[in-house]
Amino acid sequence: MIPLGDEARALDAADPLAAARALFTLPEGVIYLDGNSLGALPAATPERLRQVVERQWGEQLIRSWNAAPGDTGGWIDLPRRVGAKIAPLIGAHPDEVIACDSTSVNLFKLIAAALALRPGRRVVLSEPGSFPTDLYMIAGLEAQGLAERRLVPPGALADAVAAPDVALLLLSHVHYRTGAMHDMAALTRAAHNAGALVLWDLSHSCGAVELALNGCEADFAVGCGYKYLNGGPGAPAFAFVARRHQDRLVQPLTGWFGHARPFAFEDDYAPAEGVARLLAGTPPVLGLAALEVGVDTIASLGMAALATKSRALSQFFLRCLAATEASLRCVSPANPHARGSQLSFAHPDAYAVCQALIARGVIGDFREPDVLRLGFAPAYLAFSDVAAAAGHLADVLRSGSWREPRFARRAAVT
Ligand SMILES: *Cc1c(COP(=O)(O)O)cnc(C)c1O
Repeated sequence: MIPLGDEARALDAADPLAAARALFTLPEGVIYLDGNSLGALPAATPERLRQVVERQWGEQLIRSWNAAPGDTGGWIDLPRRVGAKIAPLIGAHPDEVIACDSTSVNLFKLIAAALALRPGRRVVLSEPGSFPTDLYMIAGLEAQGLAERRLVPPGALADAVAAPDVALLLLSHVHYRTGAMHDMAALTRAAHNAGALVLWDLSHSCGAVELALNGCEADFAVGCGYKYLNGGPGAPAFAFVARRHQDRLVQPLTGWFGHARPFAFEDDYAPAEGVARLLAGTPPVLGLAALEVGVDTIASLGMAALATKSRALSQFFLRCLAATEASLRCVSPANPHARGSQLSFAHPDAYAVCQALIARGVIGDFREPDVLRLGFAPAYLAFSDVAAAAGHLADVLRSGSWREPRFARRAAVT
C-alpha cells in the first residue's frame, strides 16, 4: 500500500525541482535513499569523463595541464575552479575553498594548521560518537605529540569550549548517524569568545542544507565530494579557510603543489598564496572532472530550493509512515530545521530491516549499532518515491520479512 498517494502526486506536480530528476541517471525500480552516502550519477558525468579521458588525456596528453586555446584542458586550475564553485553552496568566497584530497586528509591538515595558530593551547574539542575519521585524525595528531583530544557530549560543548587550553573545536555540522544539526553560529561564537578556533565538517551538510560559513565567521571547514555533491565514488573533498587566516596558515603536508612556484623546483618550501597552500600532491584530474559536473548540477538548482525540498521530503515521509501506523522510533530531531537531509530510525534489527528494504528496491543504509538511515537527497527524489518507500518500510515491519536469514548476513561495507 502506498500511503498518501494522491497527496504525493499533488506535491510532485507543484514541485519546482521536479524536472531536476532528469539531470541524474538512476536505475529503474530503485528508490534511492542513500544519496547521503554516495550521491547519484549526474547524467552529464559519463560524457565529461569520456572527453577528459579520450580527448584531453588521449590526444592532448601532457599539454592538457595548461589550458590550450579552444580546448577544455587547464587541469592545473581544477582544484581552485571546483573549490570556487562549491563556495556559494557553503556561504564562502570563491578564493576560500579548494577541492583536494579526501575529507580525512583535509581534516589532518586543518587540525594541525589550527593548532599552529594557537601556540600554548593543545586541546582539540569534539563530541563522542562523531564520525570516526574526525576522531581518529585528532588521535593521530595526539600520537604525534601535537594535540590533546577532549570529547564531551553535545550539550556540554558550549561550556567546555570556554576552557583556556582549547585550541580548536572540531564538529560535524550534521551528525552522520542521527542527522542532528549543530547551531553553527552559536558554537562558533562561543569558541571565539574563549579564544579558540572552529573547524566544521560539512560532509552531511554541503548540498543538503543552507550554510553560511562567513555569516557565522567560521574559521575552517572540510566536506565531502561524493555525498550530496554527486562527485562519484571516492571523489575529492574540499577545504575552506577564512580569508583572515590564509596568510598565516601553516599546514604540515608541504607537498610541491602547495608551493608558491611548483615548477621552479626549488629546494626550500614556500607556501602558495591563499587557500592553494592546502594542496599537497598532483590533483586527481579524473575525480575532479567528475566532481565539477556534480557541483555544477547541484549549484544550478539553487541551495535554498534544495534545502526547502529536502525538509518537505523528510516531513512528508514521516507523515506517510504515520499513516501506515508502523511504529518505529525516529532518533533524528523532530524539527526539520534542526536536522540535515536524513531520518534515522532505531530498530534492534536495523541491519536486517535495511537489507529487506534493499531487496524491494528501496536503498537506505544501516549504521551501528541499531540505526536505519534514510537520506532524502532533494535533487532527484520525488514525493511519490518517499510515499512508496514509507509503504515498503511499513510492509517489511508488518510482515516481519526482515527475519529471513539472508537479510542478516553482513557484507564488508555497510
Ligand atoms: C563521509 C564523511 C567523511 C568521509 O571522509 P573520507 O576521507 O572521504 O573517507 C568524513 N567526515 C564525515 C563527517 C563524513 O560524513
